[in-house]
Amino acid sequence: MQNPIYTVLNIAEILKADVKLVNGQTVIQYLIIDSRSVLIPENSLFFALCSHRDGHGFIKDAYKKEIRNFVITEEKYISQYPDCNFIVVDDTLIALQKLAIEHRNHFNLKVLGITGSNGKTIVKEWLYQLLAVDYNIVRSPKSYNSQIGVPLSVWQIDADNNLGIFEAGISAANEMENLAEIIQPQIGILTNIGEAHAEGFSSKQEKLEEKLKLFAATELFIYSPEYVSETNFNDLPGKKQFSWSTKQGADLRIIAVEPTDVNCYLRAIYQDKEIECTLPFKDKASIENGMICWATLLALGYSAEQADLRLEKLSPVSMRLELKNGINQCSIIDDSYSADISSLAIALDFLNQQNQHSKKTVILSELFETGKDDLDLYTEIADLLAQKKINRLIGIGIQISKYAKLFKFETQFFHDTNTFIESFAGLHFNHETILVKGARRFEFGRISKLLTQKIHDTVLEIDLNAMVGNLQFYRSKIKAGVKIMAMVKAFSYGSGSFEIANLLQFHKVDYLAVAYADEGIALRKAGINLPIMVMSPEESAFEAIIKNNLEPEIYSLEILNNFLNSLSDYDFNYPIHIKIDSGMHRLGFDTNEIDELSELLKGSQKVKVQSIFSHLVASSEAEHDGFTQQQIEKFKVIANQLVDYLGYKPLLHIANTSGISRWPDGQLDMVRLGIGLYGFDSALLNNRGLNTTMILKTTVTQVKTLDAGETVGYSRKGVMPNGGKIATVKIGYADGYSRAFGNGVGKMLLNGNLVPTIGSICMDMTMLDITGIDVKPGDEAIVFNQEHNIMELAKEINTIPYEILTNISQRVKRVYFYE
Ligand SMILES: *Cc1c(COP(=O)(O)O)cnc(C)c1O
Repeated sequence: MQNPIYTVLNIAEILKADVKLVNGQTVIQYLIIDSRSVLIPENSLFFALCSHRDGHGFIKDAYKKEIRNFVITEEKYISQYPDCNFIVVDDTLIALQKLAIEHRNHFNLKVLGITGSNGKTIVKEWLYQLLAVDYNIVRSPKSYNSQIGVPLSVWQIDADNNLGIFEAGISAANEMENLAEIIQPQIGILTNIGEAHAEGFSSKQEKLEEKLKLFAATELFIYSPEYVSETNFNDLPGKKQFSWSTKQGADLRIIAVEPTDVNCYLRAIYQDKEIECTLPFKDKASIENGMICWATLLALGYSAEQADLRLEKLSPVSMRLELKNGINQCSIIDDSYSADISSLAIALDFLNQQNQHSKKTVILSELFETGKDDLDLYTEIADLLAQKKINRLIGIGIQISKYAKLFKFETQFFHDTNTFIESFAGLHFNHETILVKGARRFEFGRISKLLTQKIHDTVLEIDLNAMVGNLQFYRSKIKAGVKIMAMVKAFSYGSGSFEIANLLQFHKVDYLAVAYADEGIALRKAGINLPIMVMSPEESAFEAIIKNNLEPEIYSLEILNNFLNSLSDYDFNYPIHIKIDSGMHRLGFDTNEIDELSELLKGSQKVKVQSIFSHLVASSEAEHDGFTQQQIEKFKVIANQLVDYLGYKPLLHIANTSGISRWPDGQLDMVRLGIGLYGFDSALLNNRGLNTTMILKTTVTQVKTLDAGETVGYSRKGVMPNGGKIATVKIGYADGYSRAFGNGVGKMLLNGNLVPTIGSICMDMTMLDITGIDVKPGDEAIVFNQEHNIMELAKEINTIPYEILTNISQRVKRVYFYE
């Protein structure tokens, strides 16, 4: 079979669309939905999708990146870009899907379709690991399983592939039919369906029935009866079925599940015989996903022995990029996801979002891309690295070394990981961002260990995708045209500095705000060029503020006069922000000062009022709604008075996080988004709709058994009348774990159990009462995560999430994850 070739004209015909073509014979290889990630612009077709934001808004950006082929709905762009091909459709998403269906119809490879609520991506990646020796597999990248992700996944199929593994995820009724038509699986795999009935469905049954629609036309359906208890057995999809269960009769009836310290041993009855396998995992979710893979191998006809041999070698799937601090002020991006071109492109995009260092280095192993010859592969990689403006490549492997000439920038090559490590001392790494990406057999974990600072075992993990999700959540709540100022004061509420600012800049917030000049200067040094407001500009820092192009908050006549004096005679229209006191009584101008303020401002050309703002004191609290309303009214009156004087219109803003959702008429020209970005909003019941962004983890150092009557810690505060067992963990009040958590007030999650502190919290350590629980040194203790969340911690010691977050000291290492 041959690969179909699509010209722009072909695609227009497939879509039965109107066109405006400059060159209809342009061949399209890549479908692009995000103007920020472009591989080869000549052969790319940009779809202006309308999801969170209207993709038409990014046509300009895509054009700048040299894309000349577009699928659009709004014809007005045609005349703006006369040298481009345009395909005009009614709905760009439907067009994307239609094209994917056409592509899918072209091939008759075997396809596995996976859906369920949990575990889809893991099962997909593991099946890939298990089957890659027998098939040339195409699979969904990462967790591309949505209405957009599925067509992009299927578009990757080419003539060399003989197996496709695609996942499908839906969030509402009537979405699955589309995905089924695009994937067309012959074999269906259902993963854990989850207990809760999700928001887009009226019941758990509806959710299940919708998901099963993926499998309507399958030959073989692999499932566990526990997942489908809501449905009638006769309604199950598939000409044939293969079931597995730990609880009831099934084709694969699992009769023993025995986790040990490192793995899990399973026994089952299959075709009337007892069979066994070992999974190299011991946690509940991995064991369940492992069982699904076991059932799938057997259902596909592998023998029990073959299945056992392969399952034993499964390796964990990590689809996250990790951003960490490295030696010599470097930032390290550790990417342990599979080593192929599409994941390299994703990692390079993330590398390019980093502005903290101007130098960018990639340490790359050979990649394995089946069905491409090496020259093509390394030419493509060299182009990609050049396009992403990488300064240095360190290539590891014999094949990549052969193609050294293709890379026209600083390079070094090593034949294997060991040679690299032996030469490490002579290599220079300094003030640069380094992407470490290698195929599994190159064991690049050893390289990233050399490059990263030793991590004291208490770590704050920050999920950057979760943060972006929260940003989008508030974007969907604000009216069109309202700007967003993201509050990144106090190390972004404890979560980080440039790491967070880079992300917010990339996702195009309009403004940043910090508390002190130092914080703003640090961001400028890290390459952040968004406008930055400084809320407490000290007079001693004015010079640095001006030098770094930071914008001071002006809250009194005195500070305005001082600032005007600091500006030179040549300064003109320097941006400042005027703070009005509408009731907080912290900083800001009062009503009676407005006249004098206006005179001063009018008399000086040196400054320009960029915005006028005020702060709400109780935007989330219904009992104070009357007061909030008054604050908003009072602010509007004063601000408008000032605007009248000025004769131009600065941005007006008053709403913080809780104000955004509870006071839509207070959104004005801009909102100031703080704690909501980090996952908390007291205006939302249980923070509904927001993602958890941070997890604080520490490690058990020692476990002790105590006799009756012994005490624990300073001043003998922890008493054990009946004796018991304690664990010491590596976090104390110097890390930000408040002393108030001592003596049983605070709790941590240890191996799934919520255990209380015992005795006083020490400076660097805490003791936990683990009586009756299996714990050993090296185990992970979770201070807070999604389940044991910061809201509960705050309640335990009678404070607010803001304080818990910002108390986490700088000594605790931050590690950033990005999918
Ligand atoms: C911190 C702060 C905010 C953000 O408040 P959240 O409740 O975290 O959204 C907004 N405005 C000002 C002036 C602040 O100091």
